Amino acid sequence: AMVATRASDERGTPQQVDVAVVGAGFAGLYLLHRLRKAGLSAVALEEAGDVGGTWYWNRYPGARCDIQTIDYSYTFDPELETAWTWSEKYAAQPEILRYLGFVADRYDLRRDIRFKTKVTEARWDEKAERWLITTSDGAPVSCRHYIMATGCLSAPKPPEIDGVKDFKGEVYFTGRWPHEGVNLAGKRVAVIGTGSSAIQSIPLIAEQAAHLTVFQRTPNFALPAHNGPAPSDRVSLLQADRAAYREQARQSMAGVPYPQQTVVSWQLSDAERRERFERAWAAGDLVHILTQLWADQAVDVDGNKIVQDLIREKIRAAVKDPQTAAALMPDDHPFGAKRPCLDTNYYATYNRPNVTLVNLRQEPIKAITGSGISTSGRSFDVDVIVFATGFDAMTGAIRAVHPITGRGGKSLTDVWAQGPQSYLGLTVEGFPNFFMITGPGSPSVLSNMAVSIEQHVDWVVDRLAALRDAGFTTIEPTETAQAGWNRHMADCSMVTLHRLANTWYTGANVPGKVQGLMPYTGGVGPYRSICDEVVSRGMLGFKLT
Ligand code: FAD
Repeated sequence: AMVATRASDERGTPQQVDVAVVGAGFAGLYLLHRLRKAGLSAVALEEAGDVGGTWYWNRYPGARCDIQTIDYSYTFDPELETAWTWSEKYAAQPEILRYLGFVADRYDLRRDIRFKTKVTEARWDEKAERWLITTSDGAPVSCRHYIMATGCLSAPKPPEIDGVKDFKGEVYFTGRWPHEGVNLAGKRVAVIGTGSSAIQSIPLIAEQAAHLTVFQRTPNFALPAHNGPAPSDRVSLLQADRAAYREQARQSMAGVPYPQQTVVSWQLSDAERRERFERAWAAGDLVHILTQLWADQAVDVDGNKIVQDLIREKIRAAVKDPQTAAALMPDDHPFGAKRPCLDTNYYATYNRPNVTLVNLRQEPIKAITGSGISTSGRSFDVDVIVFATGFDAMTGAIRAVHPITGRGGKSLTDVWAQGPQSYLGLTVEGFPNFFMITGPGSPSVLSNMAVSIEQHVDWVVDRLAALRDAGFTTIEPTETAQAGWNRHMADCSMVTLHRLANTWYTGANVPGKVQGLMPYTGGVGPYRSICDEVVSRGMLGFKLT
């Protein structure tokens, strides 16, 4: 009893708000703005020292977006759009962070954000019909609604290799890069991982380091970003009719305004296919190459293999050493079934005399020692180890708040023991007034997330306002609706090639994580229509009290 009293004193009396938001990234910031405008009181709780989320934490060399920045922006306020101009086609992390700071200032959001405050627990109080949120620092929060805007790629995956603690040199994680930067000049550096962050940082690390050794388990498809000014054709389209441009993005499959292709690969000649491919390669645009080549590339193994072969040909041409080139060529997953990467000089970096690729398929890492990394075949002495080992994606940050206790004492971890269950990727049965922004079961990481975030935030805030206006206090999906959504998720995923790859989309990168495709594959536009239909049909699948 003594301990409990002292703990509650330290924590203070709960802060009372209508809505608690966890996270102050792209999603949390827009939530705060919309909630205020809807007349709901809100607080955002953020572990970081400032706003930005992804763009606060990921400060590794070369960090930048891989959706063109004119598309990876807020669109809710036309005046905001004209008040900000991006300097590049793909803005680098410092510029995106400045943008999010600019947004926070413009709408005076920081006054409702509690920084350096981690949410550790959340409990639904059935009598009061409120959530009690426990924080690592300061008062708990009592709120009617609890919204997790905790990010799909915000919980770094811990290294699974023995001996990290024994290593005497410097250790860095791309997802937690020091703010003051790291001096790598003259050092022997190891990078573990070859996902998106590694592919962005490796060329820049190689320029600084005395020697760089890259440890690769799974090669990824990467295509050149051709960064520079935003392409004039895209900018003209946007400026000609901003509203129509943004609307096309909202209705599109991936959240970027491109038309849907109808021509399939076998209707095109070899020459026509190559011409389309070369145009896509020159465009330096992920969404272009993922959606604009031919209609069957993402759904049919043969249509997909043609793209794979064309990319492998590019890798072969870029990398001088044939053995290294072969090791860099992905051959175990369809193109697009694992997140492809955008790069600047990635493949050419392996032609440098100070860069070595270690293929862990042939010689797995045995241990990290005091002086470096040992594989089954060799030992590498290094001064620095950079872990570019990715994230516990989509569910990692949600499950890290533990326990989240819903109705009848049920914990979310238990409900999700066999994988994430949700209705629309937004809500979970048994957890009233609980929402996830870009949760598992929504298009999320398979989309331009700026578009998906705005859609989720608008939908949630509009519902909360409507609920209040109609005199309801709780909202929760029914078991039937949730089961139906899971069925629909599974049906949609069977149409794509995602089922043929073990990736972070399916939880395969985290040992012990339940396997299953987490994002919704039905597309951004169709998903939006479903969410809107739920509303127009009287909150179909929800129970309101
Ligand atoms: P985040 O930006 O991840 O913010 C979540 C915040 O919640 C974090 O600040 C975190 O500290 C906080 N948080 C989490 N748990 C807690 C807790 N328990 N208590 C308190 N605070 C907590 N997407 C694209 O669409 N296009 C791109 O080009 C693109 N590039 C990317 C590049 C990198 C390197 C990475 C890592 C991701 C990229 N993404 C991209 C995905 C990116 O995460 C999203 O676009 C977007 O930034 C997500 O915003 P968010 O607010 O949902 O989450």
